Amino acid sequence: MKITFVTSNIHKACEAAGIFSGIAEVEHVNLECPEVRNESVAEVAKGKAAYAYNELGRPVITDDTGFFVSALNGFPGSCAAYVQKTIGYEGILHLLSDKADRSAWFETGIAYADADGISVFVGKINGTIVSPRGNQGFGYDPIFSVDGKTLAEMNAEEKNAISHRSRGLLALREWLINKRSRDL
Ligand code: IMP
Repeated sequence: MKITFVTSNIHKACEAAGIFSGIAEVEHVNLECPEVRNESVAEVAKGKAAYAYNELGRPVITDDTGFFVSALNGFPGSCAAYVQKTIGYEGILHLLSDKADRSAWFETGIAYADADGISVFVGKINGTIVSPRGNQGFGYDPIFSVDGKTLAEMNAEEKNAISHRSRGLLALREWLINKRSRDL
């Protein structure tokens, strides 16, 4: 089986290839999908999938990820890309300088679109914000720690064993396997 993962982020495509390894070949299509403005990563992923399916005319998977900081009432949430581009994780650390609560979470919406419609799966991971450590991964990985290790200190396999993205993708993988047997 070959599946098309549409993203302009090569890191996401590599993580998806790791999750589907042995089950499906992941074809990466580097297409920037316009983002609908919505607080829900599921809704944003859905909008990207509708766009990508329309553009490519074949089944597609898209991803939208949010980063939620408890002490900032969930900010930056689904605006995480804009905040990273503007103030970066240094800005987040600055906003947290007088806050005791360091808890945060990631949520990834994974959307799958084909001729039958669009299905969405959400994966979540809880962690703690720390001073940056590690040089693997991408985005907010250096400041997000799980059980004493930042995501940027983990190799791809370690991150994929616990991550928000892998949880969403694994739910999709399960659903696709069931769908295939239903469609036979
Ligand atoms: P988007 O889903 O591409 O809009 O990503 C939102 C923001 O979160 C971007 O700044 C990404 O770099 C960041 N991001 C997405 N996924 C991850 C992840 O797995 N770890 C750390 N940062 C991420």
